[in-house]
Formats: sequence, C-alpha cells, structure tokens
Amino acid sequence: MNESDFERAAQFADRERENALAKHRQKMASQIEGGDTCEDCGGPIPPERQAAVKTVFCVECQQINERLR
Ligand SMILES: [Zn+2]
Repeated sequence: MNESDFERAAQFADRERENALAKHRQKMASQIEGGDTCEDCGGPIPPERQAAVKTVFCVECQQINERLR
C-alpha cells in the first residue's frame, strides 16, 4: 500500500464515521428525555452506563469512535 492509498483509506474511514454518526444523531434526536446526553449526538446516555463508566458518549457513539479511530 503506498502513501496515497493510505490517504484514501483514511479519508474513506473518516467519511464512513461521519455517515454513521449523522445517521445515529438523527435517530437519537427523537429520543431525548432529559438527563445526561451524549456529547457527540445529543442522545440520552442511560444512567446505568454513566454509573459504570464515566463517559460523555452514548454506547453507539463510543463504538463508532473506537471502531473507526
Ligand atoms: Zn451518541
């Protein structure tokens, strides 16, 4: 893999991540019921998740970020 292939792959991953997040944000926007919200999509973070791991991201954003970082 030469450098420009790598660049393209990185850009592709970036775009995939943006797409995934955009879709996820749309879905979460309709589910907000107060409480803590995800820093990334604004969706709700379940209280039990917040208690277990100090996080500002919901489960799905966390996964998207970890998978495509
Ligand atoms: Zn989120």
